[in-house]
Amino acid sequence: MDNDLKDIKGIGDKKKKILEEMGIFSIDDLINYFPVRYEDRSKIKKLSEIEDGETCLARIRFMEGVKTSYIRKNMNITSAMAYDDSGKIRVSFFNQAYIKNKINTSDYFYIYGKFEKNKHDIKISSPLIEKKLGKDIGVIYPIYRLKKGITNKDLKNFIKIGLEKSSDKIKNIIPHSLILDRKLLDKKEALFQIHMPTSFHELDRARTSLAFEEVLVSQLSMNEIKLERQKSSFIRFERSYLVDDFIKNLGFNLTQAQKSAIDDIISDMEKPVKMNRLVQGDVGSGKTVIAEAAMINALANGYQVAFMAPTEILASQHYSTFIKDYKAYGIKICFLKSDLKESEKKELLLGIKEGNYDLIVGTHAIIQDGVFFKKLGLVITDEQHRFGVKQRKKISDKGESPDSIVMSATPIPRSLALTFYGDLDVSIVDQMPEGRKSVLTYAVDFSYEERIINFIKKQIKEGFQAYIVCPLVKDSENFNLTNLIDLYKRLSKGYLKNIATGLIYGEMDKNLKEENMEKFLSGEIKVLISTTVIEVGVNVPRANTIVIYNAERFGLSQLHQLRGRVGRSDKQSYCILMHKANKDTQIDRLKAMVKINDGFELAKRDLEMRGSGDILGIRQSGMPSFKLVDLARDYYLIKDISLVSKFIIENDLIYSKEYENLYENVKIFKEKIRESIVFN
Ligand code: ADP
Ligand code: MG
Repeated sequence: MDNDLKDIKGIGDKKKKILEEMGIFSIDDLINYFPVRYEDRSKIKKLSEIEDGETCLARIRFMEGVKTSYIRKNMNITSAMAYDDSGKIRVSFFNQAYIKNKINTSDYFYIYGKFEKNKHDIKISSPLIEKKLGKDIGVIYPIYRLKKGITNKDLKNFIKIGLEKSSDKIKNIIPHSLILDRKLLDKKEALFQIHMPTSFHELDRARTSLAFEEVLVSQLSMNEIKLERQKSSFIRFERSYLVDDFIKNLGFNLTQAQKSAIDDIISDMEKPVKMNRLVQGDVGSGKTVIAEAAMINALANGYQVAFMAPTEILASQHYSTFIKDYKAYGIKICFLKSDLKESEKKELLLGIKEGNYDLIVGTHAIIQDGVFFKKLGLVITDEQHRFGVKQRKKISDKGESPDSIVMSATPIPRSLALTFYGDLDVSIVDQMPEGRKSVLTYAVDFSYEERIINFIKKQIKEGFQAYIVCPLVKDSENFNLTNLIDLYKRLSKGYLKNIATGLIYGEMDKNLKEENMEKFLSGEIKVLISTTVIEVGVNVPRANTIVIYNAERFGLSQLHQLRGRVGRSDKQSYCILMHKANKDTQIDRLKAMVKINDGFELAKRDLEMRGSGDILGIRQSGMPSFKLVDLARDYYLIKDISLVSKFIIENDLIYSKEYENLYENVKIFKEKIRESIVFN
């Protein structure tokens, strides 16, 4: 049986090309292109029960007197009155004059669409209309992600044909015994149900079954990759006395959690295996010094180290920190940024290649082609969830087989790490430095603005600094800066007159951006008004207040990251969420922020509060793109699958006959992700 798209009626050259742009190259791809959501077009309501604005289905008959009025050229409206046993409705059709010949007064019709209702009447315009249920209405209707030139109806039809054509060759990937044990659907049944659900219950089972397969294949592939890594080439570092020396001179005591993370890392470095470790710790838990301890060990062993941060602001800040903290060690550090002068860049690249620089700090500029190292031994990626996986892979390609550490404040439960972070060992920094106070968090409406600004002024008098964060408003296609700039102008000319105020946003002139950031770091600028560019990593311990305008627009993980900009010293800090929240979900988020300070706790709450959109920031992480898995919804499912994987791995089941097809798919998946997900 053929797998060619052209075998499907309705797919010609033109549509084939568009489908290919959508990543659909074969019938197999087509039937695995899942709906993004569904419309419930299955419940029939009486006209009297329908509420204003409701989208649903009604069963009606038309009355005499269908009329088409021509409003102007190319514009006409056909309308008629209709009824059911509970009331009357005006039904109108826009530019569908042919409807007149389709409807009559003797038959029942089903109409589906958005009803409008007020005290006096109920109406609907351009509804879907059918005499029979089962095709486009009366069903749970799948909605696909589309591209210009392909309609939802096209896709739905193509997929239906595709499913029928290939139905005989759809094989189970999950072994039969497991399907029975976990009460999953057969692959074939699951595919039919995901595209043409017969009920929400079956749809849910189908989704679970397909997600089960996705996660299981992924986890087993990760495990295979891990086994391979353990056999691959590696660097064996020795533990240098400089590590302890560095720690001793820090000027503060490490937390127990920091100590054990450093121990994990150094002992990985000593092992004849390539290190691939995730250091996960809440914002402010002190991940940078952990990285510094690891780096000094690699440097002392005579290797180069690359340190990447997701934004130039953050990279530049790390650069300054390293210069300061490594002052005593004669380490040559360079900052590789994206907008260097040609001559400067040449010199830097040459220096890196010849080994004149030991520690190379930068953004993704580090992984651009043309950067070669002399002897790269360790790669550290800060705030790794901000990088695409491809980028991480590329930097690892630069050395022979450098050890790798990725750091993240995005809390992922350890049990899920295998699924989402692949082949990683995890150290969790679950302690804050001594003396840290929780950030006092308040949610207030905009009428408090003046009082809050006065509060900031008071803090400044006492020697502190403040951030004011303002979201960019999306106006149709683009983000609109006017909001931010208006706020800056309004505050700096008004409430904050006489106070040194600076502005920062992503697209602004680089030099100006750096200058303002530096001035804020040095304390010359007291209040920094910015977009969320300061969201990750920025460390200005003297800043003790952050005010977030329109806080209702942000997700929990982002709010928590922003709040993490303060509370970085032993002084009391404050986070003020200024909001116009009116939806329950928004209010719940703000309440959670006020109550909970701990990132891991918040993440749990985020998991419970469905629909928060950016749960744990996973979506932006570029991790293996699961089509059907959602960390929040599928938390327990993934945990269960982890148990299953463990059982399969420990008992070597994957190589048995019953697991043949699963193993085949694991191998294919492994090749697919190897390019993108491996960290080393
Ligand atoms: P994050 O984990 O968010 O990256 P940082 O590494 O930026 O946190 O650390 C935040 C601040 O805490 C820095 O100023 C750092 O010097 C300081 N710090 C780190 N560890 C400790 C500690 N054990 N005791 C006191 N201060 C610490
Ligand atoms: Mg950090």
